[in-house]
Amino acid sequence: MKVVLHWFRRDLRITDNTALSAASQQARSVIPVYVLSDWKRSHGWTGANRQQFLCGCLASLDQNLRTIGGRLVIRQGDPVAGLEKLVLETGAEAIFFNRDPDPHGREVERRLAAMAARRGIQLLDFKDVCVHERDEVLTATGGPFRVFTPYSKAWRKLSRPALSSRPTNLGTPPEIVSLPLPTLETWGLSKPAYALEAGEKAARLRLSRFLTDSLASYSARRDLLSGNSTSRLSQDLRFGLVSIREVFDVVEKHAADFPAAGRQSAEKYLSELIWRAFYMQLLWHFPEVLEREFNPNFQGLVWPGDPKNFARWAEGTTGFPIVDAGMRELEQTGFMHNRARMITAMFLVKDLHLDWRLGEKFFMQKLTDGEIASNNGGWQWSAGTGADAAPYFRIQNPWTQTRRHDTDGAYIKTWIPELRDVPSEKFFDPPLPGETIASGYPAPIVEHSIARDVTLDLFARHRAQQEGQTTGRVRG
Ligand code: FAD
Repeated sequence: MKVVLHWFRRDLRITDNTALSAASQQARSVIPVYVLSDWKRSHGWTGANRQQFLCGCLASLDQNLRTIGGRLVIRQGDPVAGLEKLVLETGAEAIFFNRDPDPHGREVERRLAAMAARRGIQLLDFKDVCVHERDEVLTATGGPFRVFTPYSKAWRKLSRPALSSRPTNLGTPPEIVSLPLPTLETWGLSKPAYALEAGEKAARLRLSRFLTDSLASYSARRDLLSGNSTSRLSQDLRFGLVSIREVFDVVEKHAADFPAAGRQSAEKYLSELIWRAFYMQLLWHFPEVLEREFNPNFQGLVWPGDPKNFARWAEGTTGFPIVDAGMRELEQTGFMHNRARMITAMFLVKDLHLDWRLGEKFFMQKLTDGEIASNNGGWQWSAGTGADAAPYFRIQNPWTQTRRHDTDGAYIKTWIPELRDVPSEKFFDPPLPGETIASGYPAPIVEHSIARDVTLDLFARHRAQQEGQTTGRVRG
């Protein structure tokens, strides 16, 4: 082929990029393009942290492309209309792209296929976001897995695709019109408090630091809230700054020299990456989880909490130090530790009795790594309504969680300045009635033991109601 487009989406790198590599092998000239979303179309499902990171990724991608005879062409609006216009302007014969597993991405791919058929151009789409995708990992009877452990076992039995070669010369024509690289002003957003370094190089640095500093102790330390013992690669995987295949390869290679405990630790790490794939395949098979509970027993469960409490949760003033620390970490950095995500999510649902969908959307607005499949999976897990979720009667006690995962109170003290001089033991139990943990810090918004009983009752009544309806239907 003479001229083709490579449509960048969530694969913002040139190393081991399946579709880009194929495009550069099959065409004399490749035009790399990214179509910026229209803010209106995001419906409040993203925010300044993620958009800022995206801007950094695109700037870095453009620089990297220039080292291999390319440059990034930026367009904005509906991706199908944008790509069609570029095809007409350049006479491109094909569009290469990596498939996106989420429902919005798939909807665009369907419309793109219709446009390509109408225009008589080729569409070449590739697997890239996951090692194994869609229905490549199925049960013995050919259905999708709903439970993680057997999914993971089946996943591990399949062989992994090899890495693709890095393009050396894209031969992008110089004259194509492009919008400038975006800034937050492109979407009328203001700068967030914190900027994480974006781009392929920064992601590689995070990966190599993790391999040398924390991989061998990951399993033992991953639940400790302070101390940076996890990889911090989630936003890099979200935007495809490093390929998932490469992460698997380098982790395995690096761990080969570890003693047994270190190798086990690396296995634990790989298993977390398989959780990412598990949630992506769930969303692919059951896109309705974005609307309703995965577990049919709990569909339609109504959460009667006081809506005013949502703001207290969101701003981190619930009077539960561990919850508030998590929410303030999120506000100040666009990131929250996994253990804190579980604690804060379960607290919103099972202590404040507010709908998990409110928290799901809030996290998507704030998280730099906001990933629709993992976020929905994490929220439904915490609410007890998801696939292979925490059973509904498992209700974490925030005070006990603090004792276990923030033993010296360092995490709380980092994010809540009002509590910096308080002895950490005070974070392990609720204050006595009429007392507070420190002056200027609020009293707990609810009593955990009472809130817990209300939750158990809500689930029990919903199940009884459903069973009544089923029996009624059967009798009828
Ligand atoms: P590490 O512990 O180093 O894990 C390595 C990688 O494995 C992560 O980067 C991520 O890609 C994957 N991973 C780890 N844990 C999970 C998990 N439970 N589910 C799916 N993938 C996982 N992760 C996101 O990437 N985006 C989200 O929007 C997101 N929302 C979440 C919401 C809730 C309520 C919960 C409980 C979890 C959510 N997670 C999400 C999963 C997890 O919290 C983050 O992936 C993790 O904290 C990122 O930090 P890390 O890269 O240092 O993780």
